[in-house]
Amino acid sequence: MAVNATSPVRRGFLPREAFDTLLRALDGAGYDCIGPRVDADAILYREVSAGADLPQGMEETQAPGQYRLRETGTPRCFAWACGPQALKPHLFAPREPLWRSERDSEGRLQFRSTAPEPRPLAVIGVRACDLAALALQDQHFLRAGSTDPYYARRREGLFLVAVNCTHPAATCFCVSTGDGPQAGDDCDLVLDELDDGYAVRAASSKGETIAQQLPLQAVTEAQQAQIDREREAASTAQSRAMPAGNLREHLFNAWEHPRWAQVAERCLSCGNCTSVCPTCFCHQQVDVPTLDGSSATHYREWDSCFTQNHSYIHGITLRPDTRSRYRQWLTHKLGSWHDQYGRSGCVGCGRCLTWCPVGIDITEEVSALLKEAGT
Ligand code: SF4
Ligand code: SF4
Repeated sequence: MAVNATSPVRRGFLPREAFDTLLRALDGAGYDCIGPRVDADAILYREVSAGADLPQGMEETQAPGQYRLRETGTPRCFAWACGPQALKPHLFAPREPLWRSERDSEGRLQFRSTAPEPRPLAVIGVRACDLAALALQDQHFLRAGSTDPYYARRREGLFLVAVNCTHPAATCFCVSTGDGPQAGDDCDLVLDELDDGYAVRAASSKGETIAQQLPLQAVTEAQQAQIDREREAASTAQSRAMPAGNLREHLFNAWEHPRWAQVAERCLSCGNCTSVCPTCFCHQQVDVPTLDGSSATHYREWDSCFTQNHSYIHGITLRPDTRSRYRQWLTHKLGSWHDQYGRSGCVGCGRCLTWCPVGIDITEEVSALLKEAGT
């Protein structure tokens, strides 16, 4: 819920040494708390219980097919661009049971729901691109008349602490999609990090309640000027861009373009790009019976337009080769997504570039398709 337009918006500076008051306030409000931590040589969302858990001093370098962390000694904890993990797995689980079926004593099948009852979850360090992706996933999973209860239950208890991005990676292009690098109000608190702490702004009434419990000081003019400079620098630092224009029309016009076959020579059809993409929602459903056949669990698990099974219907695989699967991904994500959700499905986070094992760059592919098609 947005902060009431007539109520004062809580805003102030939280010194770095007081960061734990935020975690304590969230804990006191009943939230489990996850935030960025270094794990497996990447920055991932993990449980955090103190500011000391955050990746202070770490920066990262990203390029197509590359991700490297390094220690720089910066006092900052958010001096990096998004890691491989978006909000997606915390709402739309990679694999979860939807129901169980078993026979009762008279041999009749009984079905039991396995809908989760999650504790409220606070996520620290959400970036603008991920808020935009969340809005898209909300459109898909919370559609009136066909709301997904598994997603909805997790979404209901979510508290989002956004951190404005000051260190975009070489793979980021959220400015060109209009989704970053500054967070809007689709969250609860927004932080701007400085060397000695955080400017904190409440963006919802829930955020306001938490902000009231923090020992906030007034933001000085010098601090605000530094924040403005860093915001401006982050907005102009991105070197990649998604081509502008009506991509829906251009990509469908390029349906038989030779570039699809060229990218298919490199693409491994591994599906990494769709796994890390914060907006992809394709899934399959499978039944896993027990060995004695007395019961079965029905699972939903992430799928990808790059798998062979994804387009298998009644004995026919409609997209039998990598060329047609890559084309499906791009024309849906950037084209027919407009028909379904009123905008592109790409928020410019750059994850599909970084985590593609052969470094395929979606912005480069689209540019090539447009250029060579003469548009
Ligand atoms: S298509 Fe790539 S850049 Fe766009 S939202 Fe998905 S992972 Fe991010
Ligand atoms: S584009 Fe890259 S990440 Fe995506 S399926 Fe092909 S090889 Fe895998």
